[in-house]
Formats: sequence, structure tokens, C-alpha cells
Amino acid sequence: MGDRFEAIVGEAHVERPPSAVLCGARVEALVRPANAVELAACLRAASESHLAVVPVGGGTKLGIGNPLAAQSCVRLELGRLCERAELDANEGIAELDAGVSLAELSARAAALGKVTRFGAARAGATVGGAIAADPLALESSSDVRLRDDLLGVEVALANGDVTRAGGRVVKNVTGFDLVRLYCGSLGTLAVITRAVVRLRAAPERVAFARARFASLSEALTACARQAVKSTPSAMVVVSTGDGAEVWSRFAGRDAGVETQLARALGDRTDAAGWEALRSELGPPPRGVSRVQLGARPSDVSLLCRLLEQAGGAGAVRLVLPLVGSAVGRVADDALPGLVTATDAAGASLTLERDAHAGPPPCDAFGAPPPALELMRSLKARFDPGRVLAPGRFVGGI
Ligand SMILES: Cc1cc2nc3c(=O)[nH]c(=O)nc-3n(C[C@H](O)[C@H](O)[C@H](O)COP(=O)(O)OP(=O)(O)OC[C@H]3O[C@@H](n4cnc5c(N)ncnc54)[C@H](O)[C@@H]3O)c2cc1C
Repeated sequence: MGDRFEAIVGEAHVERPPSAVLCGARVEALVRPANAVELAACLRAASESHLAVVPVGGGTKLGIGNPLAAQSCVRLELGRLCERAELDANEGIAELDAGVSLAELSARAAALGKVTRFGAARAGATVGGAIAADPLALESSSDVRLRDDLLGVEVALANGDVTRAGGRVVKNVTGFDLVRLYCGSLGTLAVITRAVVRLRAAPERVAFARARFASLSEALTACARQAVKSTPSAMVVVSTGDGAEVWSRFAGRDAGVETQLARALGDRTDAAGWEALRSELGPPPRGVSRVQLGARPSDVSLLCRLLEQAGGAGAVRLVLPLVGSAVGRVADDALPGLVTATDAAGASLTLERDAHAGPPPCDAFGAPPPALELMRSLKARFDPGRVLAPGRFVGGI
């Protein structure tokens, strides 16, 4: 089989690492296609050989999702798909190959006075990986999501066909909205080869405020009261062990930000502390499982209670009150109980697991959602041979 990949991408771009493991499966070959045509040919070859394929960008979010439902797999590395990175400041769009790094994208956007919703990211993270993982971000709020700025995608399907959805303009919706379907699908429906994303004007000013509280519940109450006084673009509540801190981020025109800062919770502070918070959303430390619970923003206190009931007083690490998310750490033996309690409360659960933590004792997405059968039938239409990261998505799809 290795020979077949070598014929497609060249000998120099195929490796057969003797003992590599990816998402719980043995890596039979590591293949690095240079473009969408080679990538599609690799998928066709893998389909014909019934070999599971896991697309990998920077490899920084592989801890999200279930273990692969296959003994062995091909690790399809997309870092060479980075030739096209065109930013058009006048049109306000960027057309990017999937392997373009987020660091390059944000540097090039900044040079044009623009920003994207990919935000600041981990070293090595790619456009395709960020779209496929659609992770929680410090800057997220209920109406600021990456998918809303994703205008179009090009994907390679399991059978080797390359197709496009969406386009280069915002109002381009005909038929089913496949663009948002691919966003967050962890490479289980198709491999993203290119994306068109919206560029936004960089805010005139970004500023931060921080307030300290004696407890997490006091901090959450203060956030709820604060909502009527100021409108931060993002808010993060951090559990500090001996209390909690509320961080607010304000972005926009200079004068507006100044007004907001005057009404904000706590005192002005610089960006360094905010940047340090990003590590809480990075890969979990060795052997650790991170749990992300989601519900309506008004229910974040309930989410914190669920985490504390399962993991004890220090279980909550971070709360994003504007998103309705609480992030924490819970030991493996308490995870099945947390899944049941979360389901009973009508909340969602996502696990992000360090590779050394082994397979999780529950589905990485908690209890099966009502739409599971619909999701299964979509997977069957897109990937009938179960070649694309089989088992990794909700309910082992
Ligand atoms: C708005 C935003 C803000 C963020 N903020 C933070 C932060 O504060 N702190 C932090 O640590 N991180 C943050 N991140 C996450 C960080 O950027 C991730 O590391 C990144 O999203 C994952 O990229 P990757 O290339 O490493 O993906 P990988 O880990 O390589 O892949 C992630 C998943 O997508 C699949 N995949 C990869 N490439 C493709 C493809 N081309 N087609 C289909 N499936 C694919 C993989 O199989 C895997 O399931 C943020 C991300 C975003 C989008």
C-alpha cells in the first residue's frame, strides 16, 4: 500500500514510522501531499484499500474526539498544502490553502490592518485544522463564531472527488449550507483543502480590565450584573484556587473603548495576562482530560456546579459567560456520572484528551444527541466506506 502513496506524492513524502500511534491506531504510513490533486488521489487510494485516514494540520487539537475505530491508519499531513494564501483587503476576504499556518495568516492580515476570527493560535496550527476542530476561543461569544466568517470551502471527499461549497461573497447561499457542516466535523466527512474567510477591520484599540472576587459564584454574579453596564467583546472568569478573576476584553474605536473601560468590572490591565489565559485552551497537560460543558449563557453557574459535583472544589478552570461554556478537569472515574448529569441538565459536553491519557471511559461528546441518526446517515452518504477518521465524531460516527 505504501508504494501506492509513494507513486502519488513521491518517495520523499511518505514515511513508515515503526511504532507511531495516532488517535489510538497504529500509523501504517505518514503521507504528505503537496496539493489538492495529490490529496484527493491519496483518499481514493485509501478508500480502495479500506484504510482509515486521519488528516492532520498542526496536530494541536487531535485530543478532541473519540479514538479511531480502526486498528491502523494513514496520517495525512497537510502542512505542504500552503501555496495559496491570498488576502484581498479591498474585498475583505482571504483565500487560503488548508495547510497555511494561522500565525502566517494573522501576521499578513495585521499588515493590511485586518483581523480574522481565527484569532491568535498555537504554533503550527493550520487553517484546515482550526476549521475542522472549530475550538472554543477566549474571544468567542454567542454571536462571534469562526463559522460565521467562513465564506467558502474546497474539500476532497473520500472517493477522491474535489468539490466546493459557498464562495467568495457573504450572500452566496443556494442549496444546503455545507460550509458550516464541514466546520467542526473533525475531518470525518471530507478533508478541507482550501477556505475563503472574511477579513475584518482591525479595531482601533483593544483593552482589558480585571477584577478579583472571593469566590467563583461571586464572580459569576458580578458578570451577570455587569452585562447591563458595559459590553465587553469577550469575558473570561478564571478560578484561581483562593477565589476568581473576571477578565473583560474591549475592542473598537478608541473613544468607545475608553467609555467601556470606565464602566468595566475592576481595573485596567495589559494584554499579557489575557494572552497567558490561552494556555488553558491549549492541549491538556500530559495524562489530563479537559471537559468543556456548554449551555445557555444564563446557565453557566449550573455548568460550574456540574463540574464541581464530579471533580470537587477545584474542578472549574475557566468560564466563558458570554458563550455559555465552563471548562474544567475531572478524573476518569467521575466522567460517566458527569455525562449522565450533563445530559439530564440539557447541557452539552466535549472532552479534549491528552494522547497519554488513553481512551476515555465515555463518548468524547457525552450522551448521544437527538440528531444522532441524521448525523449517521450524513456520514454514510459522505463516507460510505468509513475511511475518513472513522469513529472520531459524536457517537462513534
Ligand atoms: C478563533 C480561535 C481561537 C483559538 N484560541 C486558542 C487559545 O486561546 N488557546 C489555544 O491553545 N488554542 C486556541 N485555538 C486553537 C488552535 O488554533 C488550534 O491549535 C487549532 O485550531 C487546531 O489547528 P491544527 O492545525 O493544529 O489542527 P489539528 O490538531 O491538526 O486537527 C484538528 C482536527 O481537525 C482534523 N483536521 C486537520 N486538518 C484538517 C483538514 N484540512 N480537513 C479536515 N480535517 C482536518 C484533524 O483530524 C483533527 O480532528 C484557537 C482556534 C481558533 C479557531
